Amino acid sequence: MNVILLGPPGAGKGTQAQRLQERHGMKQLSTGEMLRAAVASGSELGRQAKEIMDAGQLMPDDLMVEMISDRIAQPDCAQGFILDGFPRTVRQAEALDEMLAAKGLRLHAVIEVRVDDEVLVDRIETRIAESQTVRSDDNVQTLKKRLAVYHAQTAPILPYYAGKGRLVTVDGMKSIDQVSDEIEAILTAAVAN
Ligand code: AMP
Repeated sequence: MNVILLGPPGAGKGTQAQRLQERHGMKQLSTGEMLRAAVASGSELGRQAKEIMDAGQLMPDDLMVEMISDRIAQPDCAQGFILDGFPRTVRQAEALDEMLAAKGLRLHAVIEVRVDDEVLVDRIETRIAESQTVRSDDNVQTLKKRLAVYHAQTAPILPYYAGKGRLVTVDGMKSIDQVSDEIEAILTAAVAN
């Protein structure tokens, strides 16, 4: 199965994607993780990514589309994939549709994990307090910038998929287990269709 998890930074997409990977053998594809790996490697892409990520901005669409296009063609995505952090703009969503059609693949579910902004700010403060390896974009100021970018550039994806009748929303403010259960139910229904 091929699934997109949409939602603001800190909504719990990564946690849910990991659970799906463990339970169903689908591959979690986190563009944020790929970029952080590039930063760690010290490559030219990493240098560019660090600056943009620390500013809470988005990387260029073409670059991200190419990154995902290469990645979903790998053998470990044969059981399906979970897109976590991609698409982040309507342009990326359109390019994804074209890419999947060209590869003869389809999306089984587009799931929005909805969380209010105030809750996200509380969560990031907790994450910083509890984490030993703090991400350099994990601070309240950058989160607020990232939330503004989410509302301006990523949230328009929601009507894009809703218009195609493909969007399902879960309440990301429920417990992690409850959100997982809702996602499982959505996937079960998607398989039945
Ligand atoms: P994430 O780990 O998904 O929160 O992503 C961390 C950062 O990586 C984002 O704030 C962006 O700067 C960058 N990024 C990740 N995915 C994308 C994407 N699909 N398009 C543009 N920028 C991205």
